[in-house]
Amino acid sequence: MASVSYPYPMHAPVSQTLFDRAAVVTPGGVNSPVRAFRAVGGTPRFMVSGTGPYLTDADGREYVDLVCSWGPMILGHAHPEVIAAVQEAVARGTSFGTPGEGEVALAEEIVARIEPVEQVRLVSSGTEATMSAIRLARGFTGRAKVIKFAGCYHGHVDALLAAAGSGVATFGLPDTPGVTGAQAGDTIVLPYNDLEAVHEAFHANPGEIACVITEASPGNMGVVPPLPGFNQGLKDACAKNGALFISDEVMTGFRTSKAGWYGVDGVKPDLMTFGKVMGGGFPAAAFGGRADVMAHLAPAGPVYQAGTLSGNPVATAAGLAQLRLLDDAAYEKVDAVSAEIAGLVSAALSEQGVAHRLQTASNMFSVFFTGREVRNYDDARAQESFRFNAFFHSMLSQGVYLPPSAFESWFVSTAHDAAAIERIAAALPAAARAAAAATEEGAK
Ligand code: PLP
Repeated sequence: MASVSYPYPMHAPVSQTLFDRAAVVTPGGVNSPVRAFRAVGGTPRFMVSGTGPYLTDADGREYVDLVCSWGPMILGHAHPEVIAAVQEAVARGTSFGTPGEGEVALAEEIVARIEPVEQVRLVSSGTEATMSAIRLARGFTGRAKVIKFAGCYHGHVDALLAAAGSGVATFGLPDTPGVTGAQAGDTIVLPYNDLEAVHEAFHANPGEIACVITEASPGNMGVVPPLPGFNQGLKDACAKNGALFISDEVMTGFRTSKAGWYGVDGVKPDLMTFGKVMGGGFPAAAFGGRADVMAHLAPAGPVYQAGTLSGNPVATAAGLAQLRLLDDAAYEKVDAVSAEIAGLVSAALSEQGVAHRLQTASNMFSVFFTGREVRNYDDARAQESFRFNAFFHSMLSQGVYLPPSAFESWFVSTAHDAAAIERIAAALPAAARAAAAATEEGAK
């Protein structure tokens, strides 16, 4: 951008006009709730383009992007090689409804990278992946109940939109109207990082639990990594009780390492789910795992699952191009960028005496405005999120786009270069001062 003068005005007139138009034809003006800025207030920015680490909004303002489309854009926006692969695929036609070589190549790439995945099925969203993995686990085991953890998000699957959220083991109550008690009633919601609760749930429901599903390292309550031994403990409890262990790597997959979180902790799940990075910015996702379990999936087996656009040739071309560019050097770069930015954020907040915890999981990180370690959803909710809101708006006004919620991971890319990091560094002191000065009343 030629000349940038900060702070940007609070008012974003073109985005506001688009938001007003959108609100007429779309509930709440957005197609996914967190985009509406309800948690932080203000006008959501309508983006018109992205290049490398930058986004440009409809008012012509440029931002360093620390959301990266909620994870997928690990090479930055409009990476030339990904764009070229997409253009090449588009020119050959956009959907055939038949098998194609691209989906075979993408499946081979996933199987080659992630040892526990012997077979994989491509779908179009992370939600579909987790929904199908749970159906398969139920079909395979002949059991109904599912254990999930409060604060873990697995997409808007009916059975998984239950997060009782208290510190006690409890049967899930639906979080949202439209999910019936029957749909959520077989979901057991437990506090994250609490193996004792898992053992008790297996004990209380002998022979009834089909699977335990967990985010491999949660990023949907902010970044709350598993305590040492937690994932292994889940795996062991499942193995002992004849249940399947499902590791949801929609967010961590191909991001936290070449082999995702599995590449970090080495705990071998029975089934895994993927999305985000593997689609290269297009709707592509997957679930996979043990061949004997996957063999139960139609048409090989009786558990039905299908999709008109599954394995779409454009999406698979984008995903494959992105994955092939993600070599060891790329992960080293993302890890280094992430560590540098996280360090700058923490230093700026410390400088202003703002109590905070910067939590990391490989190159995913987030800031909790609390002095205490955050191990589960209750801890996360105990933070002073009003400080985040002040911090967020200060950063936004200085051209840095953060996730518009205190309960989300921040994401960086290989494209975050020295200039982008410099802009973040320049914005942080004022944002930290805003966080220090924030009050709960001020946020209302
Ligand atoms: N699982 C996890 C861990 C996620 O983070 C998400 C989305 O953020 C999903 C599943 C759902 O994916 P999608 O939004 O593609 O349906």
